[in-house]
Amino acid sequence: LLEVSGLTKRFGGLVAVKDIGFSIAAGEILGLIGPNGSGKSTVMKLIMGIERPNAGSVRIDGVDVAGWPTHRIARQGVGLVFQHSRPLHRQTVLENITLALLPDSLFRLAAGSHVAARAREIAARVGLEGVMHRRPSTLPFADLRRLELAKAVARNPKVVLVDEPFAGLTAGEVASFSELIASFRAEGHAVLLVDHNVKSVAALVDRVLAMYLGEYVAEGSAEEVMRNETVRRVYLGGK
Ligand code: ATP
Ligand code: MG
Repeated sequence: LLEVSGLTKRFGGLVAVKDIGFSIAAGEILGLIGPNGSGKSTVMKLIMGIERPNAGSVRIDGVDVAGWPTHRIARQGVGLVFQHSRPLHRQTVLENITLALLPDSLFRLAAGSHVAARAREIAARVGLEGVMHRRPSTLPFADLRRLELAKAVARNPKVVLVDEPFAGLTAGEVASFSELIASFRAEGHAVLLVDHNVKSVAALVDRVLAMYLGEYVAEGSAEEVMRNETVRRVYLGGK
């Protein structure tokens, strides 16, 4: 479903992403792990068209979208849950989700009621039904993360990119988020899940790709990757 090959991004003299390739099938979660500055978020931004790659291809169902503008990549079926939440603060939760749906709804000239029903459905799906009419600034951190997830999946993307969803969440919230992400896999989405730590995603992912300083380090099952020499040195500090 998603096939990335030879992906490379330079920022001035810094090679943030160097010749990275992987593929994710429908109904599969790939964990992308690496310490700060490994290039994980940059990989996601390259797939989503927020940054343009210097080289490489990004195929969605065989169509190379590398270098396309973000709105066209979104229409092709990709959604990104940003590492940092960025809701519209003057709009309610429901309005934020509705706006994430709009490009689609304008396309189909759908009636307002149809869009509103879909927005409510998504809010309920991610556990925001009780706070739909509040403004984001009044929400606890975990609900802001739920809103970010809702916006990313609003248009039912085939490929869901999730950037460090567990950072700052309690164990209970992590469990609830993990369940949500697993439910996307069960529905046949391809999920790319970014995290610092292979251990925190081991139970959730089907495979793991490890990066360090922009470069490929290892790929395989979480167990295989945890046994990798470089991974042990870089991530676990010899632990
Ligand atoms: P973190 O775990 O901290 O989120 P990351 O693995 O997501 O890190 P990236 O954010 O992809 O890492 O950054 C990779 C490298 O590219 C870093 O050295 C970062 O400073 C650099 N970088 C990222 N975006 C830009 C940009 N727009 N301009 C210049 N340098 C950038
Ligand atoms: Mg990042």
